[in-house]
Amino acid sequence: MSSIVEKYRQICLPANVQLIAVSKFQPESAVMELYEAGHRAFGESRVQELMEKHEHLPKDIQWHFIGHLQTNKIKYIVPFSVLIHGVDSFKLLEEIDKCAARIGKVQDCLLQIHIAREETKFGFSFEEANETVSKLDTLYNVRICGLMGMASYTDDEKAVRQEFRSLAQYFRQLKASRFADKEYFKELSMGMSGDYPIAIEEGATMLRIGSSIFGERNY
Ligand SMILES: *Cc1c(COP(=O)(O)O)cnc(C)c1O
Repeated sequence: MSSIVEKYRQICLPANVQLIAVSKFQPESAVMELYEAGHRAFGESRVQELMEKHEHLPKDIQWHFIGHLQTNKIKYIVPFSVLIHGVDSFKLLEEIDKCAARIGKVQDCLLQIHIAREETKFGFSFEEANETVSKLDTLYNVRICGLMGMASYTDDEKAVRQEFRSLAQYFRQLKASRFADKEYFKELSMGMSGDYPIAIEEGATMLRIGSSIFGERNY
């Protein structure tokens, strides 16, 4: 067995949690090793790289876009992305809606919420997310399937847990209010190589794991 597949099999997943294998900066051969082991869900964070991999690799791969998206590049990834995780402005959502409408698609998206203490991570505040959620009725070609967040990069487990917990709490709050009758609002994308066991405990339904499977990235 390849070392990639071996590390992949070591990740302990509860039945209701989906693993997105984050293959950014990894060669296509690495994606293929996991593909041949039966895995289909992969995450990429750069538009150009995603487009190239999509073009070269098997068409039944489910591509998740997990990076920061610029409005002028949306049109390239909407045709084949199953889920866009990092939506962090209403403007972006409007643009995704437009691109999806043009090709007759309803694009599944997650709203990215800023939960880390670092200033540099993208995402809505809870208030900004509330405002965006209140304006969704005008968009027919996007579907908000849940929330995404990244915890602080720190050894302080308590802080990481607290951040995931606040996101999970907000998720449940939305699920009970604005999305009460929307069964598609069910995904909580949180947890990476360094913190996914905590994310699982706090209610993640999707993990985005790269280096624990593929090893270090070559930037
Ligand atoms: C790169 C990346 C990951 C995966 O990070 P690892 O620490 O390698 O598991 C997860 N989520 C996002 C948004 C990323 O950019």
